[in-house]
Amino acid sequence: MFEYAPAPESRDVVDIKPSYGLFIGGEFTDGTGTPFKTVNPASEEVLSEVASASADDVDRAVRAAREAFGTWSAMPGSERAKYLFRIARIIQERSRELAVLESLDNGKPIRESRDVDLPLVAAHFFYYAGWADKLSYAGYGPSPRPLGVAGQVIPWNFPLLMLAWKIAPALACGNTVVLKPAETTPLTALLFAEICRQADLPPGVVNIVTGAGETGAALVNHPDVDKVAFTGSTEVGRLIARSVAGTRKKVTLELGGKAANIVFDDAALDQAVEGVVNGIFFNQGHVCCAGSRLLVQESIAEELLEALKRRLATLRLGDPLDKNTDIGAINSAAQLAKIRELSDHGELEGAERWSPACALPERGFWFPPTIFTGVAQSHRIAREEVFGPVLSVLTFRTPAEAVEKANNTPYGLSAGVWTEKGSRILWMADRLRAGVVWANTFNRFDPTSPFGGYKESGYGREGGRHGLEAYLDV
Ligand code: NAD
Repeated sequence: MFEYAPAPESRDVVDIKPSYGLFIGGEFTDGTGTPFKTVNPASEEVLSEVASASADDVDRAVRAAREAFGTWSAMPGSERAKYLFRIARIIQERSRELAVLESLDNGKPIRESRDVDLPLVAAHFFYYAGWADKLSYAGYGPSPRPLGVAGQVIPWNFPLLMLAWKIAPALACGNTVVLKPAETTPLTALLFAEICRQADLPPGVVNIVTGAGETGAALVNHPDVDKVAFTGSTEVGRLIARSVAGTRKKVTLELGGKAANIVFDDAALDQAVEGVVNGIFFNQGHVCCAGSRLLVQESIAEELLEALKRRLATLRLGDPLDKNTDIGAINSAAQLAKIRELSDHGELEGAERWSPACALPERGFWFPPTIFTGVAQSHRIAREEVFGPVLSVLTFRTPAEAVEKANNTPYGLSAGVWTEKGSRILWMADRLRAGVVWANTFNRFDPTSPFGGYKESGYGREGGRHGLEAYLDV
C-alpha cells in the first residue's frame, strides 16, 4: 500500500532559524516566559525553539496594537487595501517556502499545503483587500467603525489559513491585532510576521505572541482588548465565553464539529466515495468540519463500504514532503493519544474497526486511515470529535431518519448530502442544523462564503461579507 517513488519537496527552500522571538510593534523581541520547542511530527526532530509570551509580553503587544490603532483605523480604506494586496502578493511569491514550513511544522502533506492552504490564504487577503475601501457602500454607514484591538487565538490544524481568516478581515475593517498561534505550529505565523515587515505594514498593526494556553488566556483576558476571535475546541471556547461575559469585548467562537456526510442510494457512487474520503481523510481528519460520520442509505451500504475500502487501500501515508503523499503525520503525541483512546473505546463499545494493511513509519506520530462499522449513535466515536483519520459508519432508511441522525449531535458546523435529486438537497439543507451544507462535494472553502457553526460549534461567521461584521460596530 505504501510503496511509491519518492519525489520529495526540498526542505532547503525554507530557512528555519534555531530560535524565534515574539513579534511586537514591528520588531522581533525576546519573550519573558520559558521558551518551548516545536517539532516536526513526521520525525520528532526539533525544528526550532520559540519564545513564550508571559502576561507582561502580551501586555506589551496589546499596547503596541493600541498605539497603531489610531493611525491604521483613520487611514482611508483604499490605503489599507494596498497593504493587504501587498501581503497577498508576497504570500503568493513565497508560497513554496510557506507550504514547506507548514508541512514541516504541522505534518500535513505538501500537496495539501501547496494546493489548498496556500492558495486559500492568499485568496483571503485578496478578498478582504477588496472590501477595505467598500465598507461604506456596503451599508455599514458613512464611516464604518472598527472595534479596536482584536485578540485572536488559533489552532494547529490550518495554522496559516486560520491566521488569514482572522487577520485579513480585521485589518480590512481598520482593527489592529494580536494573534496567538497554537503551540505546536507557531512557525508559519512567525514567517508571516516577516512578510508584514516586507510589506512595510506599519509597526503594531499585526503582533504575534507565541506560547501555550496561558498566553492565550492572558490575551483574551487583557482589559484593553476590544474583540476576541477564537478558533479551537468547544471546551476552551466555553472557558473564553465565560471569561469575557460582562466585559465590553465582542466575541466570535469557531469550535468543534461532528459532521454527517449523508449518501443516498441515487448518488453517483464514485463521486460519493471520493467525497467521503476527502471529507474525513483530508489533513488526517484534523478538520473542524470533517465528515467524521458517514450516514449511508441501507440499500447501498455494503456496496459503498466495499468501494470505500478499495479506495483507502490506494492512499499513501508517509513523508509529508513527498508530493505523492495523501496522508501525513498526526500533529502531536497528545493528539495521537486522543485518537488512539477514542478508537480503542470504539472497539470496546462493540464497533468493528478496519484499516488497510499499512506499515507506519517508526519515528513520528502516525495513525492509519480507519473505518468503524456497526456504530451505534450512543457510541463515543459517533458523538465525540476524534479530530483524526477515523470514520464512523451509520446507516439510515429514509431522508427523515437521515436528518434525525445527522442532527443528533451537540455540534452543528457542517454536513454533506450526496444525491442526484435537487429537490432532496434543498429539503435536507432546510432541516440540517449545520452552518454549512455541501451538496455533492465536501470540504469546499471559499473566501466569499461565510463559515461558522450552530449549537456548540460556536457563534459568529468568518468569511464573506458576514466576516466583516465580526470586526465592525455595525
Ligand atoms: P484548543 O482549544 O486546545 O486550542 C486552540 C488554541 O487555544 C491554541 O492556540 C491554544 O494554545 C489556545 N488555548 C488553550 N487554552 C486556552 C485558554 N484557556 N485561553 C485562551 N486560549 C487557550 O484546540 P486545538 O486542539 O488546538 O484545535 C482543535 C480544535 O479546534 C478542534 O475542536 C477543532 O474542531 C477546532 N477547530 C474549529 C474550527 C472552526 O472553524 N470551527 C477550525 C479549526 C479547528
